[in-house]
Amino acid sequence: MERQVASAGVETLAELLRGARSAVALTGAGVSVPSGIPDFRSPGTGLWENVDPMEVAHISVFERDPARFWRYYRPRLEKFGEVQANAAHVALAELERRGLLAGVITQNIDRLHRAAGSREVIEVHGSIDTSSCRSCGTSFELERVEALFDAAGVAICAECGGPVKPDVVLFGELLPEAAMARAQELAEAAELMLCVGSSLAVYPVAGLPEVTLERGGRLAIVTQGPTPYDELATVKLEGEVDAELGALLAALD
Ligand code: ZN
Repeated sequence: MERQVASAGVETLAELLRGARSAVALTGAGVSVPSGIPDFRSPGTGLWENVDPMEVAHISVFERDPARFWRYYRPRLEKFGEVQANAAHVALAELERRGLLAGVITQNIDRLHRAAGSREVIEVHGSIDTSSCRSCGTSFELERVEALFDAAGVAICAECGGPVKPDVVLFGELLPEAAMARAQELAEAAELMLCVGSSLAVYPVAGLPEVTLERGGRLAIVTQGPTPYDELATVKLEGEVDAELGALLAALD
């Protein structure tokens, strides 16, 4: 695939960031695509092909047919354990370090914002960092989960034999209240919301840019493809997220 260079408009985004007293980033699957994690909503992306994630990564499948759930989810956990942060994650961490971002609200479960050094990370869909026993509550770090599988391919608690579930929000589950409350708070306070790699189509997260706009804040969008907020954004950059954010850092220097 040909690499796209950063778009015009990076300078404008740099100005917006410098001028905002408070800014927050909102990220989706697109920010992890350069790390080799496909956006499962895009067609033909290998790992995610031939199965509808909404059907398998569902809490009811986990409860009724855990072997089926894990046939789908186990290779994904393995894959997530191997991937590394890319230049887009690193750039967002650097913006926070420079005091230009209050934090990152993310729909991603891959831990890569933290791996890149971001400190205030609100994971509204949870994280693969840990899995927990639904019976006794024991928490297992990702690296320990592989040892929990029984002969049927189901992860079983080492303490009590109960079912172990990744601490991610499956389809059919509510988003964690505390994380959503913090995301709402950051969206309300933001003079600028920088949306990266998200189609802004999945609620309730897709409602956060509206919160910022209603409070008089502005939107900047760095995402390939259309979003429902394109017309309302002050800046829309269409290049690859790692190139765009790399260029943004350069423009801020
Ligand atoms: Zn247990």
